[in-house]
Amino acid sequence: MPSYSAPVDDTLFLLKDVFGYDRYADLPGFSDAPLDLVEAILREGGKFAEEVLQPLNQSGDRQGCVRNDDGTVTTPDGFRKAYQAFCENGWGTLAAHPDYGGQGLPHTLATVVNEFASSANMAFAMYPGLTAGAVAALTTHASEDLKKTFLPNMIAGTWTGTMNLTEPHCGTDLGLIRTKAVPQTDGSYRITGTKIFISAGEHDLAENIIHLVLARIEGAPEGTKGISLFVVPRNQVASDGTAGDANGVSCGSIEHKMGIHGNATCVMNFDDAAGWLVGEENKGLKAMFIMMNEARLGVAVQGLSQSEVAYQNAVTYAK
Ligand SMILES: Cc1cc2nc3c(=O)[nH]c(=O)nc-3n(C[C@H](O)[C@H](O)[C@H](O)COP(=O)(O)OP(=O)(O)OC[C@H]3O[C@@H](n4cnc5c(N)ncnc54)[C@H](O)[C@@H]3O)c2cc1C
Repeated sequence: MPSYSAPVDDTLFLLKDVFGYDRYADLPGFSDAPLDLVEAILREGGKFAEEVLQPLNQSGDRQGCVRNDDGTVTTPDGFRKAYQAFCENGWGTLAAHPDYGGQGLPHTLATVVNEFASSANMAFAMYPGLTAGAVAALTTHASEDLKKTFLPNMIAGTWTGTMNLTEPHCGTDLGLIRTKAVPQTDGSYRITGTKIFISAGEHDLAENIIHLVLARIEGAPEGTKGISLFVVPRNQVASDGTAGDANGVSCGSIEHKMGIHGNATCVMNFDDAAGWLVGEENKGLKAMFIMMNEARLGVAVQGLSQSEVAYQNAVTYAK
């Protein structure tokens, strides 16, 4: 049975003695996070990864996510309870902006906690990971109204986020995107199209799922110069700010993969779904790159986290 022990002491050694953590006190968030606080957070984060997330990894991967006949997706046993604990402990709030309920602590700290979570259970860690990326893109490019509507619930984890770029005929070459956006008189858009390979596209962990979707506004220029970014909630946001009626967003199927079965990689259909422009018209790739760059760091952390847990288990086996 594989095991995992979060390398808290090694990480503290790196932060203190190799990177000279104290030298960064003038950077945002660092003055609020002295090393004794960092140590306390990392010890708790390590414990959460070892005791709550790791035991669900193998069983979760074997069981996987299941798409039900009504289009809902059920995550493996234990994921819901673990996600609830993740949110209650505020793990998703560490580096998020304080104006919207975040703690404003250094990204460094959130990255280490993400590493521990990914080592213990990568499929699980991807749900909050995608949310953090969507939060970053909205924080940087969305209007104040959109930020107020979406960010507090996403940072708290009550709602999760996704990144919708890939379509059945285009992955690398996003200039070929066909999903279309039709402007409405109230300033919103209607989004129609199909996206594939959407990580955390549908699941039962959160009350609402907030999709960031690349689409082409009617009449936009060809290629990447005509792509805009929209925020499209699975459920409309009710007047009291909670998740309301369905919004024309559905999961068509779950992709078959070699691993990470505990994370639902979905085909997502948007049928006249209400969406709101994030950033400027036809500048969607630039706005989405905030999320894609977060995802790149996240994928790098996944690589590190998998090599750490592979190393630990190889040592145990060799001994
Ligand atoms: C587990 C998983 C999760 C994913 N999650 C998401 C997600 O959350 N959101 C999302 O939008 N997408 C997601 N994706 C999709 C991913 O972004 C695409 O797989 C990726 O963009 C590559 O597209 P493709 O698979 O169509 O490959 P292709 O674009 O067909 O590329 C295949 C190969 O051809 C090469 N290639 C392509 N074009 C050229 C060219 N012009 N010149 C030279 N070489 C070229 C590529 O480098 C690659 O090696 C996910 C994929 C996986 C496997």
